[in-house]
Amino acid sequence: MKEINKMLDQEVNQVNLIHSYQEACSNKEFKKFIETLPIEEEILMKYTSNLEDAFEEEKNCKNCKSLACCKNKVVGYRYTPEKEKSIIKFSYQACKWNQLAMKENAYKENLELFDMPIEIKEASLKEVYTDDKSRVPIIKYFKEFMEKYQKKENPKGLYLTGSFGSGKTYLIAALLNEMAKKKVRCALVYYPEFLRSLKSSFQTDYNERFDFIKTSPVLLLDDIGAENESNWARDEVLGPILQYRMQNHLATFFTSNLTLEELESSLAITSSGVDKVKARRIIERIKQLTIPMELIGKNRRN
Ligand code: ADP
Ligand code: MG
Repeated sequence: MKEINKMLDQEVNQVNLIHSYQEACSNKEFKKFIETLPIEEEILMKYTSNLEDAFEEEKNCKNCKSLACCKNKVVGYRYTPEKEKSIIKFSYQACKWNQLAMKENAYKENLELFDMPIEIKEASLKEVYTDDKSRVPIIKYFKEFMEKYQKKENPKGLYLTGSFGSGKTYLIAALLNEMAKKKVRCALVYYPEFLRSLKSSFQTDYNERFDFIKTSPVLLLDDIGAENESNWARDEVLGPILQYRMQNHLATFFTSNLTLEELESSLAITSSGVDKVKARRIIERIKQLTIPMELIGKNRRN
């Protein structure tokens, strides 16, 4: 008796499956959609409801103009059927807009930020203000830098000084984003905060952090001179980083509100006293690594 009931149930199920499949196929668009799939009808029938979902998502995609307009359940993805032996597997596949965005954003993987705002990864040379003549020689140098870098000629970085808010950080970040698009790994470090966090990582990942900065193929030390000077920061952090980068010809950029002369005076005086020789040594290394340039301009910060 049990066996007969089971058989009857199966038969009823089968009839229901066929019925809902045929009903769904009365929609011509749906029928067309499933005809594009290289899957036999006996298999398709078992998945009517999922196929209807997939069909709806495909319809959304057809009329879609950008990622921002996505109407699908998972933004940027389409519920997609695929035959695997005698079953259909459904998965979420990235749509063309999503794929394009992923491709356009791939360069961001090459940018490592340390206490820098995430939007800095959007800085672009194309958007650099052109209304300001003081940017022209810098942009010109950027071109030279990129050419030489590609030819492995170890070009020098920049020591970019200038007033607060003139756009120093933005400019260098725009260059580094460009380098990242050429698959060069770059680290952008807000130096005063980096020092603070390095100091508090003695018990944890101090060496990893320090070595990462030291060895990054391209490095920006942003806002150097804005930190509180200490012997430790000067002699155990900055000195060895610069020394290593000099010896290994690694491209290094700085931004600062201080000129090199002012930075030298600032580095000489620490909480433990005055040491002009050690300050001089740091400046010599910066001079080996960079060309000094100035960005004068109005404050762009709101
Ligand atoms: P600085 O480092 O010289 O203090 P920033 O690079 O931080 O100045 O720039 C100041 C503000 O102006 C920031 O909010 C930055 O995003 C914006 N900014 C600077 N240059 C540009 C640019 N070319 N296009 C768009 N925004 C810019
Ligand atoms: Mg800055």
